[in-house]
Amino acid sequence: MTEPTQILHSIPVDPLTGAISVPIYQTSTFVQSAPGVHQGYDYARTNNPTRKVLEDLSAQLENGSTGVAFASGLAAIDAVLKLLDTGDEIIAVEDIYGGAFRQFTHIYAKFGISVKYVDTTNVLNIIDAITPKTKLLWIETPTNPTLKITDLKAAAKIATSAGILLCVDNTFASPVLQKPLDLGADIVIHSATKYLGGHSDLISGLVVTKDPELGARIKFIQNATGAILSPFDSWLVIRGIETLHLRVEQHASNAQKLAEYLSHSPLVNQVYYPGLVSHLNHDIAAEQMSAFGGVVAFDLKIDDAALATKIVTGTRLFKLAESLGGVKSLCCLPCEMTHKSIPRDKRYQSGVTDSLVRLSVGLENADDLIQDLDTALKQTEKYTNQSSSIL
Ligand SMILES: *Cc1c(COP(=O)(O)O)cnc(C)c1O
Repeated sequence: MTEPTQILHSIPVDPLTGAISVPIYQTSTFVQSAPGVHQGYDYARTNNPTRKVLEDLSAQLENGSTGVAFASGLAAIDAVLKLLDTGDEIIAVEDIYGGAFRQFTHIYAKFGISVKYVDTTNVLNIIDAITPKTKLLWIETPTNPTLKITDLKAAAKIATSAGILLCVDNTFASPVLQKPLDLGADIVIHSATKYLGGHSDLISGLVVTKDPELGARIKFIQNATGAILSPFDSWLVIRGIETLHLRVEQHASNAQKLAEYLSHSPLVNQVYYPGLVSHLNHDIAAEQMSAFGGVVAFDLKIDDAALATKIVTGTRLFKLAESLGGVKSLCCLPCEMTHKSIPRDKRYQSGVTDSLVRLSVGLENADDLIQDLDTALKQTEKYTNQSSSIL
């Protein structure tokens, strides 16, 4: 049986009523027949039947043993970091998600957990950064927003031989396109806010572990610190997962078409999409991903934020907003939005120029999306002609 069929049919029919949709168990507690005698549920922070369906489903999607659902992607990341002790070191991917950077440096640094950011596209940099204190390797692939790729098998080998945990933030790829645990990672986290939820209508995070003992430690942290996902939001993510395979395949196919269109535009400097043969790590991406995801970034020949602003405000289908992974296409200007707090020279080092535009390609018809972007780009052509004649 193929995975989409398996996933759909592993969502249980409600044993009490036969409801084909998972019931939303909106309850705080569960009645016990004698002290400590219950049906597996005693208090809803510890366990909730709706959340449990999502947790089991996420473990299955990632080929892990244990799934644990949190109130946000950052709460999921926070739970993984709570595995560490004072004095431990983290090695993290250089282009890490901004919220994870903020948490590592502004929350965990003061508890004596330090982090080194390295360019993990060259895995030898990981080896150089490892010390006896290193306990966790943190990888995102593809990264945000320039979609850099790290060789997960190679990174996992390094982590295993150094005796450190490898955690992969698999948000951008989704488990449909990439399964880090199969490639040797120990932990996967997701911002389920993105592709898993898929409809831009919730905030949620997941942790999946390969090893059940590690999973039990994450479950302990979830219960002890309490950042659980609500029953209703658990239900929404389950519903999102029901169409995950269909959606992600269409996101990726639309994104590939847009990336190809952009790579032929005379106004565009560089297109970042791992599905393009011209992408720096296309070969590794092709090896570890079954398609290349729904995020595309590009910058302009005239590297000017005002010009890029014309584009992101000139589209009609691509809405200007942060986030990604929803059914409707979004665009953003990282230098003014997601990456505003990063100093300009540091931003440029990782390719985030003033004119870099990030697209979250949605599920509209690809030709309509190309048309929309083409119109917005052509508007700027007029504007650049005007400004060059003024000059
Ligand atoms: C959005 C995002 C997060 C954070 O998730 P929230 O659900 O917003 O807390 C973490 N990692 C990546 C790659 C993301 O895109």
